[in-house]
Amino acid sequence: MRILLLGGTSDATQLAARLSAAGRDAIFSYAGRVSTPTPQPLPTRIGGFGGIEGLEAYLRCERITHVVDATHSFAANMSRNAVAACTRAGVKLVALERSAWVAQPGDDWRPVADITEAIAALPERGARIFLATGRQNVADFARKPENFYLLRYIEPPKIIPLPDYVGLAGRGPFTVEGDTAVMRAHRITHLVAKNAGGDAARAKLEAARALSIPVIMIERPAVPERLRLETPEAVMDWLAHEAS
Ligand code: NAP
Repeated sequence: MRILLLGGTSDATQLAARLSAAGRDAIFSYAGRVSTPTPQPLPTRIGGFGGIEGLEAYLRCERITHVVDATHSFAANMSRNAVAACTRAGVKLVALERSAWVAQPGDDWRPVADITEAIAALPERGARIFLATGRQNVADFARKPENFYLLRYIEPPKIIPLPDYVGLAGRGPFTVEGDTAVMRAHRITHLVAKNAGGDAARAKLEAARALSIPVIMIERPAVPERLRLETPEAVMDWLAHEAS
């Protein structure tokens, strides 16, 4: 058994630790979006594979038998490519993905399909928006330049074409106390979030509920059907079963 772990999430990092402790033959893969990725206890490669064909060739060349897709639930291109390449190469695939968050009593969520709809759902001016969507789509919000934006990212984007913003660098997991304090300090009126699920990024939603702040919730992009498990432990059990 030789495993390729597609990373970029805290769950992937937890799984890497378990794979290493169990002595599994595994390679960790990063897209290479940040300059200081979390070091992993597994041999690590960085950078895209070159689409479906590139990933298929990589799987064959490295004699991979099992792929664990532990990318973020919004990294849909990678996940779609993994489904197609694994099918072509005859490699088993499992996704490590948490269930989507569900609104609780007291929440004011406004579900939207994508970033474009999220921008359309925001006021034209005068709002104070916590953009907790990472750095990828920051520039799109320049379509509503008369709002204040609080940006949170691991690393700032190269260009931030917003006239009124504050940037906060930070890597999750975040705390409810911390996120509540941040939202209070910046007098936030709207939160924009991706429905990632899991615990690492949930704090902002609890803070928004406590402060009665509406949440523009971007729903997950579609990915073809695949085996999906919710925790690193469940993936370890599945791999143990596969190896036996
Ligand atoms: P994406 O749109 O699905 O991926 C774009 C391309 O990046 C893929 O086609 C692939 O290139 C390459 N890629 C993505 N993940 C990779 C990995 N783990 N190893 C090697 N290549 C990878 O993904 P994205 O939204 O840009 O996300 C990039 C990374 O950031 C992912 O690892 C994801 O887990 C992480 N991340 C994303 C978000 C988010 O909101 N999207 C949030 C937190 C973390 P090729 O086609 O050349 O193979």
